[in-house]
Amino acid sequence: MIKIYDTMTRSLRDFVPLTENVVNMYICGPTVYNYIHIGNARSAVAFDTIRRYFEYCGYTVNYISNFTDVDDKIIKAANEAGISTKELSDKFITAFMEDTAQLGIKPATQNPRVINYMDEIIAFVSTLIDKGFAYVAEGDVYFQVAKSKNYAKLANKTLEDLEIGASGRTDAETDRKENPLDFALWKAAKEGEISWESPWGPGRPGWHIECSVMATEILGNTIDIHGGGADLEFPHHTNEIAQSEAKTGKTFANYWMHNGFVNVDNEKMSKSLGNFVTVHDMLKTVDGQVLRFFLATQQYRKPINFTEKAIHDAEVNLKYLKNTHSLPLTDQVNQDELQTYLDAFQVAMDDDFNTANGVTVLFDMAKWINSGNYDETVKDAFEKMLQVFGIVFEEEVLDEDIEKLIEERQAARANKDFATADRIRDELAAQGIKLLDTREGVRWTRD
Ligand SMILES: [Zn+2]
Repeated sequence: MIKIYDTMTRSLRDFVPLTENVVNMYICGPTVYNYIHIGNARSAVAFDTIRRYFEYCGYTVNYISNFTDVDDKIIKAANEAGISTKELSDKFITAFMEDTAQLGIKPATQNPRVINYMDEIIAFVSTLIDKGFAYVAEGDVYFQVAKSKNYAKLANKTLEDLEIGASGRTDAETDRKENPLDFALWKAAKEGEISWESPWGPGRPGWHIECSVMATEILGNTIDIHGGGADLEFPHHTNEIAQSEAKTGKTFANYWMHNGFVNVDNEKMSKSLGNFVTVHDMLKTVDGQVLRFFLATQQYRKPINFTEKAIHDAEVNLKYLKNTHSLPLTDQVNQDELQTYLDAFQVAMDDDFNTANGVTVLFDMAKWINSGNYDETVKDAFEKMLQVFGIVFEEEVLDEDIEKLIEERQAARANKDFATADRIRDELAAQGIKLLDTREGVRWTRD
């Protein structure tokens, strides 16, 4: 039985899905105004690994992760670049797809975008006003946190703690609010900003509302798992819960999962420290699979310390596992021994996706394989376990090797050594390579 550390209850709980063998999960995605940084990548890799383990266990996973494409940062970056907010976000969505593909992250079931959910967002906000949970103030719409049950329970805070913290605030927005803690569901348009028509005048949604709307529209009023970085517990996820449960009267998510931070050389990563690394830049020098392996093999809730040595170690370890995977097969293997590795892997991973322990099992198993235990059943099991960590296997035959064999075949034919030429052709065919004799020479394709 998979156990999940649930941030809401601060305890390890048995995972029981709403629908047998199905997991509906919603993971907060990036604001697409720049290339993703290593912290975004950590979150994406952590939840992709969790998804892959659910799939390894036989679950069907509906994996939804949004793109925030309406936001102050996007408006600012688009103005600076002299392009529209849509052009800017399109560019960084494409970059996100490319970077995450290199990290071996499976495409989400859906990546909803805010601009495609404007009608649903307006309808959701209208319902909150009708139900008395929200109010209009000079074209803005605010959610009344005082009406929310257990507000900020997720972040282990009380309304009283938060009120003390907010008591000194003085600014124009705070003046419009009934309570400084109330948060914006809708923001009236400012001069020159992108906006949409609404019953409260032209404006755009606040940040938190998009996830409540897209999660419930796509996955229903109650979802199995909602996740994201630990920095999202408050205010983002706290506010998502408040507005979703106010609207539907139902529990928004049954399990809340949060991944830990990334430190660089033991320091918190930040733009001001100059250690803020984009994945796009990092992939110029570090192999995507190595980076993936490094990120995936740390337990997702623990902080990660990113160092050059850690990347080097990941490279060495990944190479060992991949070399083990490509070993030639041996005679039949003791199935009971294989089962002990499968069981140990499951015990490790069922314990809140403890990939650090899971990968230890893989190394023990690799050692056993290297001592001559590698039949078809072992290879199949080993490969499935490696895939949980996002390790993929390149075509066994490299292009260079194919070209070399084709040259040898051409030389054999020129020497009228047809037996050798035919043998090479058959060898290539066995590897799925088809040869085509054309006027320009020999062409080849993979079947
Ligand atoms: Zn979100």
